[in-house]
Amino acid sequence: MTESCDTRDAGRLEALLERIDGSGYRAYRDLRGAWDFDRAGTPFRLLVDHVQADPFAAPSRMRVQVDPDAAGFPGHTFTPGPRRRALCNYLALRFSDEAGDGRRGPGSGTSGRIAIDRPGQQVLERTCVLVDDEGRVEARFVAGLPAAGRRVLGGAAADLLCRRLPGIVAAALRCESCDRDEVDAWTRTAEDAAALRQALAGGGWSAFVADGAVLPRRSGVDDRPLSGAVPFRSPPSLRVELETPNAGPVTGMAVPEGVTLIVGGGFHGKSTLLSALARGVYDHRPGDGRERVVTDPTAVAVRAEDGRSTAGVDLSPFIGDLPFDHDNAFFCTGHASGSTSQAAAIVEALEAGTRCLLIDEDTAATNFMIRDGRMQQLVAREQEPVRPFIDRVRQLHEEAGVSTVLVMGGSGDYFGEADTVIAMERYEPVDVTGRAHAIARAHKGDRTRETTGPVAGAASRVPLPDSIDPRRGRREVSWKAMGPFELRFGEESIDLSAVAQLVDVGQTRAIAEAILRGRERYIDGRRSLAQILERLMADVAAGGLDALSSRPSGDLAGFRRFELAAALNRLRTLRVRRPEEVPA
Ligand code: ADP
Ligand code: MG
Repeated sequence: MTESCDTRDAGRLEALLERIDGSGYRAYRDLRGAWDFDRAGTPFRLLVDHVQADPFAAPSRMRVQVDPDAAGFPGHTFTPGPRRRALCNYLALRFSDEAGDGRRGPGSGTSGRIAIDRPGQQVLERTCVLVDDEGRVEARFVAGLPAAGRRVLGGAAADLLCRRLPGIVAAALRCESCDRDEVDAWTRTAEDAAALRQALAGGGWSAFVADGAVLPRRSGVDDRPLSGAVPFRSPPSLRVELETPNAGPVTGMAVPEGVTLIVGGGFHGKSTLLSALARGVYDHRPGDGRERVVTDPTAVAVRAEDGRSTAGVDLSPFIGDLPFDHDNAFFCTGHASGSTSQAAAIVEALEAGTRCLLIDEDTAATNFMIRDGRMQQLVAREQEPVRPFIDRVRQLHEEAGVSTVLVMGGSGDYFGEADTVIAMERYEPVDVTGRAHAIARAHKGDRTRETTGPVAGAASRVPLPDSIDPRRGRREVSWKAMGPFELRFGEESIDLSAVAQLVDVGQTRAIAEAILRGRERYIDGRRSLAQILERLMADVAAGGLDALSSRPSGDLAGFRRFELAAALNRLRTLRVRRPEEVPA
């Protein structure tokens, strides 16, 4: 985080801005570099990394660095891992609040705007605020340099950078101005969540939902907790007590590894529970309601997504011989069906290393999930390529150690396959495993199992570098995240709307950077996709998200290998080969 160029002080910055007042906008270029401030009692350094070309372009990129003494955060608030992540998210929110959440001032274009990437409900690693091992705080933000038309507004710029900015820094990035209880709540909550998640494997559980958790959200587009919701209460037979470092013992429902079925009437909270489990791979901010809902960090929510593309996916565990010339063991299509897309999503998640699949009937292909006795009688096995998931779900756990949590309110076919059956009744879970098993025994023989062959160990794939092309027009590299669920990459647009565990556009940006880095370093036509993911995630683990880009970027957020894989797998130009086809 240190800069070697010679620095100037805030007085000189003010003088410069006065001098260029009324000049053409390009005069702002002289701002580039480092400026040392000692205003409002908070010494800090301002680094101007990039100056916008005109008032209507993307605002200028800047950083402030506050030394450990001036920032004043005690060591325990930034121990590496969940605590530091939480502190950084908290400081980013404060900065954003103090900056008026990006509101602009008078003048043209982005004039007078100061904005920082604003965290949502999840506590993710982020590049907008970094705290290093000594407690030095760096915030990365953008500022719209003020203009009247295309002329420099020197006075307004001095006001923005020499008065408003120091005020924001003093109010947002110093421990002294923070509410200490709030800082503790953020760091402790995140640390407790990480501890709960870590306890899952030892207990033989896929997930844990604490008593009192609030799962529903305000709306489909508002991720904040629903007020007046029925708090979660665990059924006694599934209740466990786990120890947390800060909150002490916490009780709640443990979802055992294996096959878990969530049943219940419509509108009784099944999907809400499953969504909370999907988000349980992330930590949440205090007050979210899901702070103590944690899931196996490798859990992947999979769904049907007809129309998506697939590149050489070995669907053979789930799909047999396909009509015409389609190869089920090397499935390439620009338009997958409901069942083949869901099969592809599962095989791809396994390839990326998942140990837990999350499936909701609302977004699943029925013919992929079940095939009942009567349909077995009517349509001969030879006519049906789909090997239904119901015949694989136990095998997945027993042979590959992969658990499944499945919402299925409309069919009892899975009763006999499930280790645990949870009924949601008016938003409260009830353990109905015994009754479901009794019903399954009474109906034994209604349908015949169609399983053949191993379920895991689908053939691995080697991506071909030429099929991942970031060029667009004359630009060598062009990408843009249009939101969390759409990534423009080169000439392509990657549709991520079915990737339910993407929660932040910053993740999508970071994934774009990761694909580029992968393309530069690891995607060589020899390494398998799994090896490429491994390398990229190791780079991020070692160097943080900054390892992904050549310049300091303030708007990246932490992502998992599964979402990175999901993006690559949905790139329509992607081509792969089998490891045995790699030339010697
Ligand atoms: P299902 O999948 O069983 O049909 P959903 O999970 O979609 O039901 O939930 C139906 C509605 O109930 C949603 O609007 C959801 O926000 C609301 N809801 C879910 N859980 C709770 C709860 N614990 N308290 C209050 N409302 C809830
Ligand atoms: Mg539902």
